[in-house]
Amino acid sequence: MERVDPDDDIVMLGSGLTMIDQVLSLEARRHRGRIQVISRHGLTPLPHRVPRSHPVAPTFEPGTTPLSGMMKALREAASKTEDWRAVVDGLRPVTQALWQQLSTAERARFLRHANAWWSIHRHRLAPDMWESFSRMRQSGQVTVTAGWLKEIYHAGGKVRSAYLDRHSRTLRQISSDWLVNCTGMERCSISKTPLLKKMSSRGMISSDVMGLGLAVDRDSRLIDAAGVVSRSAFALGPMTVGQFFEIFAVPDIRVQAAAVAERIAQDLS
Ligand SMILES: Cc1cc2nc3c(=O)[nH]c(=O)nc-3n(C[C@H](O)[C@H](O)[C@H](O)COP(=O)(O)OP(=O)(O)OC[C@H]3O[C@@H](n4cnc5c(N)ncnc54)[C@H](O)[C@@H]3O)c2cc1C
Repeated sequence: MERVDPDDDIVMLGSGLTMIDQVLSLEARRHRGRIQVISRHGLTPLPHRVPRSHPVAPTFEPGTTPLSGMMKALREAASKTEDWRAVVDGLRPVTQALWQQLSTAERARFLRHANAWWSIHRHRLAPDMWESFSRMRQSGQVTVTAGWLKEIYHAGGKVRSAYLDRHSRTLRQISSDWLVNCTGMERCSISKTPLLKKMSSRGMISSDVMGLGLAVDRDSRLIDAAGVVSRSAFALGPMTVGQFFEIFAVPDIRVQAAAVAERIAQDLS
């Protein structure tokens, strides 16, 4: 970002926390150019409220309620609670277990219809960050568009991005000096990493069923192409998203790392 001139126009692909980080670091460098954000839903993270409300435990029985029932129960609980954040925060201790209890079809349905909404409610911004970002939107410097990026090419020294607008379903183009990849999770999949591609071609690893990251069992042990669980190789963090779903923030990875360390210690003894 140091190479970006303060008057350059920028397109950010993705509208999650990575985008917010990039936009606010540009603001700190007194950026004046236009920043256009494109993401499939055009949704941006919501703010925390201070002081935080005490988390409210879920009203449904994990493991017995289907996905649609859980969504209904969440909406009802949020409408009855002064701050919806308390309901979302109450899910945190059970989110991984809930994900693991969903069938593959339900996981796919959740990712397709609810994940973007879950993300903006769950992965929130500090209030002052949210205010800074909102000010930039209100001033017109930052715009957020819902659409699918279809093509990127060079034209006259600029980057031309063609996207399918979500609302009008028409193909539109925008021109900028830079395009910044803020899509985050995409990097977890095998196809995005040379090392993982090589390991996959040797059959040492495989994709999880959803193709989000690596296949691991509930102990974070790698599962190879033949479906055999490794005795000695583990994966940690975002790469294990298919098994654990909420495994991006350091507090979650820390718990996983401690569990893997214990398993290795047990194996050795
Ligand atoms: C912009 C941004 C902001 C974030 N903010 C927060 C936050 O506020 N709070 C929070 O909890 N989480 C945050 N996260 C998420 C968190 O940082 C990540 O989930 C976490 O760092 C993942 O840890 P990791 O060890 O799995 O991977 P990484 O931290 O990405 O580490 C992977 C390491 O492996 C190395 N590596 C990769 N391939 C190879 C190779 N072939 N050979 C050798 N080395 C290799 C890389 O160089 C890197 O050092 C943020 C993430 C981003 C991108």
